[in-house]
Amino acid sequence: MRESFRRVLTGLADVVWPRTCAVGACGRPVDRPRRHICSTCFAALPFHEPGGACHVCGMPIPAKTPHVFVCEACDKHPPPYERTCSALDYKGDVEEMIKDFKYNRASWLAEDFADLLEGAVRAHLDGAAVDALFPVPLHPNRLRSRGYNQAALLARALARRLGRRCDEKSLARIRDTPKQSLLNGVERRKNLTGAFAATRPTFIRGRIILLIDDVTTTGSTLAAAAEPLRAAGAAHVWCATLARAPHDS
Ligand SMILES: [Zn+2]
Ligand SMILES: [Zn+2]
Repeated sequence: MRESFRRVLTGLADVVWPRTCAVGACGRPVDRPRRHICSTCFAALPFHEPGGACHVCGMPIPAKTPHVFVCEACDKHPPPYERTCSALDYKGDVEEMIKDFKYNRASWLAEDFADLLEGAVRAHLDGAAVDALFPVPLHPNRLRSRGYNQAALLARALARRLGRRCDEKSLARIRDTPKQSLLNGVERRKNLTGAFAATRPTFIRGRIILLIDDVTTTGSTLAAAAEPLRAAGAAHVWCATLARAPHDS
């Protein structure tokens, strides 16, 4: 269906069936065109405070600092990516909506989420310098059972906004690993060793790549996905995630 025609249909549907805000207890009609979170709830989301996080991995630190802060772990063992930014803290309604988006086919939230990601990228990274957005890929088995890759939905919507390419072919997940959420930090890193591979190095060499994922916790998935990109000669690997979970979640 042509995009313009789809917009007209969506606009008509909004008039006939006003949508209710996706935030659990809100109940208000959505007042943002073609979106699913109302402006009141959108403004009240738990925005991730970048001043209180490591410049490299995005790990939250107790106090805000006006200086660029790099945590001890990133200082001692720099990860294969150079920057991470996240839009939100992973908690409450945000957690519920992302779970719906990820597991319950709530793909309609992609535009609201891309608004948030765009805000984070424009505030903390040089979006115009990015050559391509790479969603963190799912293993083909996981993709088959889930039916879609939530990171790819985010990356496509964000790529349109930034006027950049979304590349879903140059990085692949070659090992089907147990779910990260069931493991601790050390197990997470081990679990992901060699899980990703660069499949089209010519699309990676010398490029600035923005890796996109829905949630980051320890950063081990981003590190594992960034590893083959660096090995294939990427100029820079930056990361943007919709939300940042506390380490013990
Ligand atoms: Zn609302
Ligand atoms: Zn760090």
